[in-house]
Order: sequence, then structure tokens, then C-alpha cells
Amino acid sequence: LGIPSVPTKLADRRVSRKIQVGTVAVGGDAPVSVQSMTTTRTSDIGATLQQIAELTASGCQIVRVACPTQDDADALATIARKSQIPVIADIHFQPKYVFAAIDAGCAAVRVNPGNIKQFDDKVKEIARAANDAGTPIRIGVNAGSLDARLLQKYGKATPEALVESALWEASLFEEHGFSDIKISVKHNDPVVMVNAYRQLAAACDYPLHLGVTEAGPAFQGTIKSAVAFGALLSEGIGDTIRVSLSAPPVEEIKVGLQILESLNLKQRRLEIVSCPSCGRAQVDVYKLAEEVTAGLDGMEVPLRVAVMGCVVNGPGEAREADLGVASGNGKGQIFVKGEVIKTVPESKIVETLIEEALKIAEQMEKDGIPS
Ligand code: SF4
Repeated sequence: LGIPSVPTKLADRRVSRKIQVGTVAVGGDAPVSVQSMTTTRTSDIGATLQQIAELTASGCQIVRVACPTQDDADALATIARKSQIPVIADIHFQPKYVFAAIDAGCAAVRVNPGNIKQFDDKVKEIARAANDAGTPIRIGVNAGSLDARLLQKYGKATPEALVESALWEASLFEEHGFSDIKISVKHNDPVVMVNAYRQLAAACDYPLHLGVTEAGPAFQGTIKSAVAFGALLSEGIGDTIRVSLSAPPVEEIKVGLQILESLNLKQRRLEIVSCPSCGRAQVDVYKLAEEVTAGLDGMEVPLRVAVMGCVVNGPGEAREADLGVASGNGKGQIFVKGEVIKTVPESKIVETLIEEALKIAEQMEKDGIPS
């Protein structure tokens, strides 16, 4: 009898059509991408580009900017040209800014069917302009701004209402031969949101942008997003994600990347395997884990470091990791690739782990292990 292999993924990706958001492919076999949105006034070009640079450095792949005024629309061309990552213009209420964003060379435009008044008679022109420029459109339905007609029909923003709104809007574009579309159906309740995306995924083959809208402050929003995205991505649903937090956008990217890494949808980087500590702990595990995490911050190679409080699970986890420590009796046994390489006093555990981690990382880079 052979030992069964450990599955490394949860489900095959849903088959979606691929669109191109600037340099980033979304859908099809493209990796699930992570995006965020700037919080600066878009018309403040310097501040917006500075925030985009910070987002890019943190791993953001696509960025969205709001465009509520003519000054913002006027800034789009410079921002789109100077940004290192594709820029999506986020348009509500005013169809004229959709044309401005397309003309400005934005990588895509997000429209909200519930908020674009006089939109329907403009679809033909928008479809033509977007098609000529090769600019995809995201149909971004949001529970908080659902089309009044559907709100009346369903009584509230149910999954069915969100999906009907999105598909209706998509059908208007399809009538004009335009299908360079991705869709989102966001709700602040992960259960409603998951059900909406499941229905949408079954009803079309457009790539899907996942989001729990208005998910809340960092802690709550992180949990809601992780639960909802985890459910959908583990079923193969979702092509790009945006975590919405009442927190700086870089935090959204950290959470988004961690969600993808946790699901093996992105190469894992530094991973700290640390125990929760208990009555058996013989070191301050929290302090040790925090100090090791801080010392290795920014490491891009897929390094697994085990920080364990005692000899119950310590040696086992430390042996399985690239690097680890099993602590006890004021000392730490340091493991590298499953072997004990030395035993150091407790006061030297952190510096030894960091030293060894840097050596392993250097070797991994030399060996060409992708970061
Ligand atoms: Fe407790 Fe030891 Fe397990 Fe940590 S490794 S939780 S200290 S038993």
C-alpha cells in the first residue's frame, strides 16, 4: 500500500474567459491577482502615485482609483502613464467619466449599474469606445447601491438581486458585441456574498472579482474576507480579489496575499509555524515568535520557520520545517532541514534563527527557488 499523496490544492479553477487588465491577465489560467484602491484624492497626482508605489511595493498587482470629479478625470492620464501597475478608474453616477477614463489610457473601467444614471442609452457608445481602446469594463454591483428596480423586486439586496443586476448590465454590453467584462457582486455579509458569487459563477463565464464590501475595520474585515474568499476560492471561484478594510490599502494587500498563499494559490513566502503556547511552554513563545517574525520581515523566499514552546510537538514541527527551534530547559534545539545543528541558550535563539534563515534564503536564491 502506498502512502496517499497530500493534496496541494482544493479544487480546479472554474473555467472563465480571460481578459487583459493592462499587463495583468484576469481569468482563464491566469493566477488569481490581488488588488486594492487608493484613498488619496485622485486629482492629487503626486499623493496618488506615491500611494500606488507603496501598494506596488507591497505586492499589489492592480490598483483602482476613484473618479468623482472632472479634476480627478483630468488626472487619470498621468496616473495611468506613470503607475507601475494597471490602473482601473472607478466611476459612479457620471457616464462622461467612463469616456474620460478610456481616453486617459486606464487599464479598465469599473461601472456600477445601480449608480450610473442615464447609462442605458450610453452603453452602445461606451462599448464602442472600450472596444476600440481594448479597455475592459468591470460591472461592479454593490449591495449598498443596488438598482432601485431590483431593490423593489426583491425587497433587499439578495444574491438573486445582485446577480440579476450584474447579468442584466452585462447583457446590455453583449447586445453591442462587447464582452471584455469582469464582474463583481459585493455584499457586506459573507454568506450573501458567497451565495451571490456561486450563482453568478454558474450563470456565466466572465472572470469574477471577489470582494466583501464594507467589510469593516482590519480585524473584522480580515476575517470576513478570509472566510468568504476562502469558501469561494476553495471551490475554484474567483479570478482577482480585493480585500476591503477600513485601514490603509497596503494592509488590504497583505491580507489578500496571505489568503492566496494559505490556499496555495500563490507561492508561499515566509511562513512562521508557531505554537499557541500552553502550560507546558518553557519559553515565552509569543515573544519568540514576534521577534523572529520581525527579524525576518520582508523575506521573499518560501521559508518555513517553526517556533515551538516545548518538546511535545516541538521537535516534530521543527523537523518538518526548513528551520525551527524546539525549546526547553532554558535552551533551544535548532533544526535545519530536519537535523539538529546546534543547541543554544534561550537568549541566543532569535539571533541564531535569523542567522540560519538568512543562510538558507541565500542558498535558496542561489538554487533558483522562485521568490
Ligand atoms: Fe504547548 Fe509545547 Fe504544544 Fe507549544 S509545543 S502548545 S508549549 S505542548
